[in-house]
Amino acid sequence: MITDTSHSLFEKAKSYIPGGVNSPVRAFKAVGGNPLFIKSAKGPYLYDEDGNRYLELINSWGPMILGHAHELIEKAVKDAVSSSLSFGAPTRKEVEMAELITHMVPSIEKVRMVNSGTEATMSAIRLARGYTGRAKIIKFEGCYHGHGDSFLIAAGSGAVTTGVPDSAGVTKGTANDTLTAPFNDLQAVQTLADANKGNIAAIIVEPVAGNMGLVLPQPGFLEGLRQLCTKEGIVLVFDEVMTGFRLAKGGVQERLGVLPDITTLGKIIGGGMPVGAYGGKKEIMDFVSPVGPVYQAGTLSGNPIAMSAGLAMLHYLNTHPEVYTQLENIGNKLVSGFTENLKKLGLSYTINHIGSMFSIFFTDKPVVDFDSAKTSDTVLFGKYFQAMLNKGIYLAPSQYESLFLSTALTDEHIQTILQANYESLEEILVK
Ligand code: PMP
Repeated sequence: MITDTSHSLFEKAKSYIPGGVNSPVRAFKAVGGNPLFIKSAKGPYLYDEDGNRYLELINSWGPMILGHAHELIEKAVKDAVSSSLSFGAPTRKEVEMAELITHMVPSIEKVRMVNSGTEATMSAIRLARGYTGRAKIIKFEGCYHGHGDSFLIAAGSGAVTTGVPDSAGVTKGTANDTLTAPFNDLQAVQTLADANKGNIAAIIVEPVAGNMGLVLPQPGFLEGLRQLCTKEGIVLVFDEVMTGFRLAKGGVQERLGVLPDITTLGKIIGGGMPVGAYGGKKEIMDFVSPVGPVYQAGTLSGNPIAMSAGLAMLHYLNTHPEVYTQLENIGNKLVSGFTENLKKLGLSYTINHIGSMFSIFFTDKPVVDFDSAKTSDTVLFGKYFQAMLNKGIYLAPSQYESLFLSTALTDEHIQTILQANYESLEEILVK
């Protein structure tokens, strides 16, 4: 496969952009080799600058749940563009968007639109602090909530991949207010809550964690967090930036039946445009400015083009419940194929899976938290990644990421991916 153009673009990019990329994981540091520069995408395929085609399992890290350049979203954006790109004033579309979100996500009564997942989580935490008058938060090791200072403590995703879970530039004062517990460890959370009684504003969690690879909540974990938060007056924040509108129409909270006080959203909500949102109980959301004392704003928030893309996406998902059955089927077919491949090759790697998200961990240990995720052989993962790429399958370039499926995958694509998986595993074992 010739990737000379990508290679020379990367060399040039490094002169002008830190590390040549606008988000660290894109640099392929964890898997070796050079990143591919993508020119276009359609359905399940990415096309790079050298004209190579890849079947892909990332879908822009989640948003493209219907595949790339879906005609409905494309049309909504094109229709909106001729009415100007931004007003900085209220629009009808924002109202429709908010109404639809509150209808789809069980715990949201009011919602504020922002421009990214990071903004959503930062705002949610400020709100929880303003609402409770408390300072500290609890987050979970390996969970990633964007790059807000409070969250770059034992963070997952690119922060793990680049080997700096605790970023330079985060002050001790901020770090002191972030307490961390292992994912799935209720006892550790209880201990932190007891030791900091009356001081914890929020517990923030990815209810299904996707940033240390995919890690599922064990039965009782989310319920336990809910009970503890209710008892102690702590605001429970579900970060559903990845899982919202993906694992069910109403996210994990609908799928698993545990309701948070605040939910943060991103990715699918913008249909591929830069959008995030945070929403929850009226009583809490009315603490946000201009009605309440918690300040949060945005020049481009509720941007008409972004709202048009997001609305088209959410309307489609809301009126086509078969999308979720389809995604479950695609996920099940792929994962049972992977499991069969591992069996045939006598391998016992761990696969975590729910709906249209999954991870293959290069470890034979069950992966239930960040420590167990880190038992994975990341060098082997790098080889697997490269072997798959050579066969035209584009995976997330890190062991510590989930894969995201779209409805654009047909049975034929699934067979192609499974075949590549078998051959890649075989290849890396003999190397
Ligand atoms: N929360 C979660 C759970 C995420 O996965 C991400 C990004 N992958 C974010 C927050 C941050 O979102 P963004 O990259 O849009 O700032």
